[in-house]
Amino acid sequence: MSLSECWEHISQASRERKLVAQNRGHCFIARMKINWRHRGELRALVQGGYAHALRLSHGFRDVIYPPSCATCGLPVAANGGLCSGCWHSVRFIERPYCEVLGLPFSYDPGPGILSAEAIADPPPFDRLRAVATHDGAVRDLVHRLKYGDRTDLAPMMARWMWRAGSEFLAQADVIVPVPLHRWRLFSRQYNQSAELARALARLAERPMASGLLVRVKRTQKQVGLNAKDRAANVRGAFKVLERRRDEVLGRRVVLIDDVYTTGATVNAASRALKRAGAAEVTVLTFAMALADIIST
Ligand SMILES: [Zn+2]
Repeated sequence: MSLSECWEHISQASRERKLVAQNRGHCFIARMKINWRHRGELRALVQGGYAHALRLSHGFRDVIYPPSCATCGLPVAANGGLCSGCWHSVRFIERPYCEVLGLPFSYDPGPGILSAEAIADPPPFDRLRAVATHDGAVRDLVHRLKYGDRTDLAPMMARWMWRAGSEFLAQADVIVPVPLHRWRLFSRQYNQSAELARALARLAERPMASGLLVRVKRTQKQVGLNAKDRAANVRGAFKVLERRRDEVLGRRVVLIDDVYTTGATVNAASRALKRAGAAEVTVLTFAMALADIIST
């Protein structure tokens, strides 16, 4: 075989291999398309069936357990809501409020104006937002979630919190619940703030980190203590675990708690986060006790 014949032979073999590869590729793509189309149909069928099954199960559930108000138990149109009476008892905290402490103003002093409380005693966190004042149905929801084993209320309460703090939740690097001491967690079985934080993390599609901030001091309950005793009670109570400092260092943290009362707990927790290097701490609570501190 001459050199030119040999070259022609190699070229021919190469062209044939290329053609086979192209054909195989075509067949493969076509096969992929068919499979993919069928998979889509199959998925739609499964999803449709699942949605139908879910509607049916909700239908059965609604017959067995008719939808009722989350606080007073009166019949309502759909689960996860309040009756009109309870709804009207909710006092949402809307602007104008102090941009740092989230305290509602009784008049509008203009954009960016801080409350006298925030100027006189700047908090260790960057800002605080709360859904509503701690009374009426809101107080009842907090109580049921905290002491009544009603963790099923957390997704509804988190939806309200998402509305109050969405601008900061969307930018958060990490969502951190105020922790319980391990002994209290053991006796209560769950941490109400972690339940809210978990539901918020799902809504905001941001990571939640429980166990990063820990309560190192077993404190007595804050209920019944005055502001000074509350601060003393939780002083040095929180710490960021040394091995998890990286998750906080230079990060924007949203700290979640159920109620803001005197601020002693979230102040102590925020200090621990800032000490660990958090770039920003936004506190988001469901309720805010406003008894004597409403700004005028
Ligand atoms: Zn009701």
